Amino acid sequence: MLKRCLIVVCLGASGLVAAAEPVDLDMVSRIRQEAFHNSQVMATFSHLTEDIGARLTNSPQMAEANAWTRGRFKEWGLANVHDEAFDDFGRGWEFSSATVEMLDGRTQPLHALPKAWTPGTDGPVEGELVQVNIKKLADIETWRGKLGGKILLLGEAREYKRATASDSHRHDATSLEGLQEFTIPKSSANERSKRVKEYEERLELAKAVNTLFAEEGALAAISISSWDNGIIRVAGGGSRKAGEPVGIPELAMIAEHFNPLARALENKQTVKLRVNVAARFTDETNQPGYNTLAEIPGSGRKAAEIVMLGAHLDSWHTGTGAADNAAGVAVMMEAMRILKAVGARPDRTIRVALWSGEEQGLIGSQDYVSRHFAAYPEPAEPAQKALPGSLRNPTGPLQKKRDYDRFSVYFNMDNGSGRFRGIYAQENLAAVPIFEAWLAPFHDVGATTVATRNTGSTDHIPFDRVGLPGFQFIQDRLDYFTNVHHSHLDTWDHVEPEDLKQAAAIVASFAYHAAMREERMPRKPVLERD
Ligand SMILES: [Zn+2]
Repeated sequence: MLKRCLIVVCLGASGLVAAAEPVDLDMVSRIRQEAFHNSQVMATFSHLTEDIGARLTNSPQMAEANAWTRGRFKEWGLANVHDEAFDDFGRGWEFSSATVEMLDGRTQPLHALPKAWTPGTDGPVEGELVQVNIKKLADIETWRGKLGGKILLLGEAREYKRATASDSHRHDATSLEGLQEFTIPKSSANERSKRVKEYEERLELAKAVNTLFAEEGALAAISISSWDNGIIRVAGGGSRKAGEPVGIPELAMIAEHFNPLARALENKQTVKLRVNVAARFTDETNQPGYNTLAEIPGSGRKAAEIVMLGAHLDSWHTGTGAADNAAGVAVMMEAMRILKAVGARPDRTIRVALWSGEEQGLIGSQDYVSRHFAAYPEPAEPAQKALPGSLRNPTGPLQKKRDYDRFSVYFNMDNGSGRFRGIYAQENLAAVPIFEAWLAPFHDVGATTVATRNTGSTDHIPFDRVGLPGFQFIQDRLDYFTNVHHSHLDTWDHVEPEDLKQAAAIVASFAYHAAMREERMPRKPVLERD
């Protein structure tokens, strides 16, 4: 039996003294030793990014990543290593090259990359460029009969916005202090119906546009990258669903090459382009997606209870999915490796999940939570069924599965690759003193802050939505939202090895302490939606 040391923590502003939360400093030392001096996190991260590369959901590379991560888990001695399917994700897709050249007058290569799930060109195509601006369904008919054999420039030139701050950011005392403030949300009574309307309109317009372009026989379409400075920031287009219109080859071009094309057309110049995109759907029919799971089984009377950690293994397709999210995957895998290496024998089972389909709307994690823990009933109407979970009308009380009451806590990493500076408590105030105690042995490596506020938009949300404790760490942003997020610059070079080592140590320690504490993690009340 290991010696337990007690750390008593005060809640700063409130002055409340929390109950003593046990912290096993002997175990923390062993975890830190393994994490800081015997790390394998960069080996894992490097293999995912530089050997496998981009991991678009259901692409052949994603399958390779599922298989490789399973292999690592087995080598490290984890139990119950397996993939778990989620139904009907759609088709896989991959691309191998994309070139756009300006012809006539001044021949020039232009930098653009394809949107995922759009078709390739089947060899080089050449055509005159026309500027097309479709903002609503009513605009569609005005373009009929005008687009055959053309290459389409979608939208207008965008004014260049000069940067006013450094493109890389680390927290300091002031910015961490700022995170301690909680903002009470404004009433959102009509918010959902507004969002549903916008979602449905956007989807309907995209389908109509895809159909028009294909029927017209337009050769390819080019839109502007959503960021400046030569960065190609691009997600999906077309459709991953078999049977839906996929439109025509579509690429996102760097702003500095898109804008001159737009200006030339506005000045009534003729522009001719050659486009060559080698892209293909890798399935004929819709396929399930796969999450990869593994465990360190608990022992004793709490063995059936579950502590989870995870990150999404899928990525977008133009970089190598480094900060988003090989970093999170490498950290979560490393945390499991560390726990095995230090001989941890947790009371509760510690389970790691490497999700897929995150980038298309948290699909893998949402499905997993519904199957294993709890779900709201499926809506009967097809229109409601077609909406993502967060936009549906309430369908009745939460339906809990057996493992709902056996679940303790889920920790996720998906805010880029930056160093951990603390954790968001997701409005679960009873978790605050627990996290403060667990963070204390990591103050010396920069992780000091427990913020009550929420953080959103990734795989802890499906847990949170059904009232299960799911958390994300506060991280240094680095250049996540200026250079790498969903861009072709999301590569190995933008990640700092020491940040990943620090994160892995903290995750391993949090998972261990969650698995060993007397009670499961306290829960906040489920917000039954109105
Ligand atoms: Zn992500």
